[in-house]
Amino acid sequence: MNLILFGPPGCGKGTQAKKLVDGRGMVQLSTGDMLRAAIAAESPLGLQVRDIMARGDLVPDEVVIALIEERLPEAESAGGAIFDGFPRTIAQAQALDAMLAGRGARIDRVIRLIVDEPELLERVTGRFREQGRPDDNPDTFKTRLAAYNAQTAPLIPYYEQAGCLREVDGMGTMDGVASAIAASLDAVKS
Ligand code: AMP
Repeated sequence: MNLILFGPPGCGKGTQAKKLVDGRGMVQLSTGDMLRAAIAAESPLGLQVRDIMARGDLVPDEVVIALIEERLPEAESAGGAIFDGFPRTIAQAQALDAMLAGRGARIDRVIRLIVDEPELLERVTGRFREQGRPDDNPDTFKTRLAAYNAQTAPLIPYYEQAGCLREVDGMGTMDGVASAIAASLDAVKS
């Protein structure tokens, strides 16, 4: 099964993806984690994206599409991928559909985690204090939220039309949200 965890920064995608990895053995494909690893390694890719990420803007589509393409065989062997933070634009979603179709697969479920903006800000501010991730500072967070609203939210009707979108209230406890996601996934016919 291939699943997209969808929603704005701070909605809990990463946390819930890790729970699914532990519970179901699927592979988490987080483009944000891959890009942060490239920055930490000071690789050419890291140098290319460092300033863009520090501003809170999206990195070019072709960069993240290539990162995902490279990891698809591994996810396929594990029985499925949890896409976390990808796709973030319509072009990325179309590329993902094409890459999966080429492998005889598809997106089975998109789970949209719904969290209101004051709660997002509170969570990301807390994460900034605890982990010091530079793009979690309140100003950059505003840019990331604007990028979500302008470039990523249009994916909601895209996946609604495909019939695979489900909404989950992301305001509850971590375990409560995990149970709601599990219920939605168990309803997917394989
Ligand atoms: P995240 O950890 O998913 O919040 O991503 C952190 C940052 O990495 C984003 O603010 C973007 O700068 C960049 N990024 C991660 N995933 C993508 C993506 N799919 N498309 C474009 N930029 C991305």
